[in-house]
Amino acid sequence: MDSEALISLYGARGQERHGAWLRTHLDSDAAHFLFPDPADYSWPDLDAGRDLWECRVLLQMIDGEQVNGTLAVAPETFAALPSTVPRRRQRHLAYTARATERDSYIWGRDHKSDCSPETCGYVATEATSTS
Ligand SMILES: [Zn+2]
Repeated sequence: MDSEALISLYGARGQERHGAWLRTHLDSDAAHFLFPDPADYSWPDLDAGRDLWECRVLLQMIDGEQVNGTLAVAPETFAALPSTVPRRRQRHLAYTARATERDSYIWGRDHKSDCSPETCGYVATEATSTS
């Protein structure tokens, strides 16, 4: 899926700030992948108040590195997404994502010292930070 489609999913989950961060830091020319990858205990269970699918994302960042991440999406949202990847490739991607040790959080942490409006163009949406 393209980066805008992915970012809109973060927005739908109330993670607009993360979406804004991704908009600057994802390789917008690359394809990104999303697939359900729940731990055994976290398949949707309406009785337990869980109605989202735990998905794994495989992202390509602006420096070309592939990192993984997680995102919960509603099953109907996932079902509405076009499936663009043949099954064989899906398995390969799932394997790649699980084998990818770095995630977007670690990438962001390593990148932080280089991150400014001058370098990558990212402007933090909140002027003040408590950390
Ligand atoms: Zn940055």
